Amino acid sequence: MADKRFSDIKIHRYDAVVVGAGGAGLSAALYASDYGNVAVISKLYPTRSHTGTAQGGIAAALGNLDEDHWEWHSYDTVKGSDYLADQDAVDVLTKSAVDAVIRLEHMGLPFNRTPDGKIAQRRFGGHTNNVTGEPVRRACYAADRTGHMILQTLYQQAIKKGIHFYDEFQVIDLIIQDNIVRGVVAYEIDTGELHIFHAKAVNFATGGWGRIFKVTSNAHTLTGDGPAIAWRKGLPLEDMEFFQFHPTGMYKLGILITEAVRGEGGILRNRYGERFMEKYAPHIKDLASRDVVSRAIYMEIREGRGIDGKDYVYLDTTHLGKEVIEKRLPDIADFCRTYLHIDPVTQPIPVHPTAHYAMGGIPVNIDTNVIMDGNNTPVTGFFAAGETSCISVHGANRLGTNSLVELASYGMISGLRMGEFIKSAKLEPLPDDPAGYAIEQLEGILHSSGDEKPGQIRKEMQQIMMDNVSVFRTQELMEEAKAKLEELKERFKRISIQDKGKRFNTDLLEAWELSNLLDIAYATTVSALNRTESRGAHSREDYPKRDDVNWLKHTLVYKEGENKVRFDYKPVVILRYQPKERVY
Ligand SMILES: Cc1cc2nc3c(=O)[nH]c(=O)nc-3n(C[C@H](O)[C@H](O)[C@H](O)COP(=O)(O)OP(=O)(O)OC[C@H]3O[C@@H](n4cnc5c(N)ncnc54)[C@H](O)[C@@H]3O)c2cc1C
Repeated sequence: MADKRFSDIKIHRYDAVVVGAGGAGLSAALYASDYGNVAVISKLYPTRSHTGTAQGGIAAALGNLDEDHWEWHSYDTVKGSDYLADQDAVDVLTKSAVDAVIRLEHMGLPFNRTPDGKIAQRRFGGHTNNVTGEPVRRACYAADRTGHMILQTLYQQAIKKGIHFYDEFQVIDLIIQDNIVRGVVAYEIDTGELHIFHAKAVNFATGGWGRIFKVTSNAHTLTGDGPAIAWRKGLPLEDMEFFQFHPTGMYKLGILITEAVRGEGGILRNRYGERFMEKYAPHIKDLASRDVVSRAIYMEIREGRGIDGKDYVYLDTTHLGKEVIEKRLPDIADFCRTYLHIDPVTQPIPVHPTAHYAMGGIPVNIDTNVIMDGNNTPVTGFFAAGETSCISVHGANRLGTNSLVELASYGMISGLRMGEFIKSAKLEPLPDDPAGYAIEQLEGILHSSGDEKPGQIRKEMQQIMMDNVSVFRTQELMEEAKAKLEELKERFKRISIQDKGKRFNTDLLEAWELSNLLDIAYATTVSALNRTESRGAHSREDYPKRDDVNWLKHTLVYKEGENKVRFDYKPVVILRYQPKERVY
């Protein structure tokens, strides 16, 4: 059945390849390129990466407007994580955040400024003055286009450095033998040809996987390719049960309304006009951490206090005034006018929670080297950075603005560590038939002639994940989702696609991405079933309490067979902050 389309495979050699051209991939490539020959492979044109859609800001305790300290940022991050974050990794993040932002400034990033010319800062959920408990202005921003500016700035620097880009190449497989990584196999979207990138080191910076859910702020391309590839190679995924729902997605559409709207003073209201967050987080109200606010919105909706009794609430900005909205939130104002036909200057915005951020991912140590077990055994030459990785600085719940700073700070660290590695490592030989498994997967889809449609399977997967494995979870709901996913994986074997051609065959690639989403949705569901407690974004109605005695540990889930998984665990690194009850 094999056709000849994959018989001519080009081989490229580099010291290191970075998969992904978002903030994490570009940072890693920039800093690794001082040590050797680096290529960036991206299925998207680099500046279309999801980092470019980030709106609200990047956290760093610069203290430009309010007193602030990196230790306060550390504490807030650990508390926000519901004490699951590794505190050594958090300290590195928050300490290096300040330099990371200054570096971006020096690269030319056009931050908003204070009247005296410093980088302006705004409030964001969960970021506080540790003495008073009041919100602190810690998020640096470029209007509500912070990610766009970061991505453009880093891309310009990468071009200046002469880094080699393979745009619109989709990585399908990782080449690994004897626990040593030897490169990747990529599909050139334009021509339908396969390429082998033979390298001493590989860095996965492939972003998130919000597309396992029906309502999400994530781009269509966020399909968890990196983690799914690693999982199929027998490597574990960490803390997959923790997926963040952002409280304010546009009603029905899921498009993000940045938390900066609340940072600038926006208020959540129910059908009676009540500021309901006063009840759930008396101290910092609308600026509580995202898990807390998302649950509060659902509680209001459940108790019939959604707008008109429906499944949404209002984000009220009408008291902020035209100038604040137009100057600091111009894109949000634009989105509201375009997609909802409302003007946030005079009308409240209908919102509900939207699937937003993966706290879990490919487990890495503090040097961003991928690990294969609970003893932190590294995989030689394999690194991961950004949302796709789990280091873990976000634990069970990420604070807003802490992802962009992770890209800049750990992205750089990842580049440097990979650079040091390639300086001394040698290029290990490729195994026999290095592209074999990639070809098997692609041909499997091309030649399959059943009557199942990938689009239908994707729809059913997104629906069951949204209904059964989102903000509130129970054993029963998740068992049902698990069975449904097993059925969908079975049906996936009988799909057929219409386009059998070579050029821009998005039918083929979307079907392959669906296989990733199904695996990732499965890993998420079984990990959530396994964790019998509530912590951060993982909220179980049948186990409503956090259980530090049994569950103050990271989950590692391995794929052992078709519908078989194995769990292992990793201790949480605790330094200064002992777990205690979270009060906002
Ligand atoms: C709407 C929105 C707003 C946000 N706002 C903020 C904010 O204000 N502050 C904050 O801190 N965080 C924010 N976040 C989160 C943050 O933006 C993301 O977590 C972060 O940008 C992820 O960056 P990344 O580099 O890890 O991945 P991405 O930017 O998603 O890039 C992934 C890259 O991987 C490539 N890729 C993926 N699979 C493959 C493959 N198989 N082969 C080749 N290439 C591949 C893609 O082409 C892409 O270049 C926001 C997220 C969203 C969705």
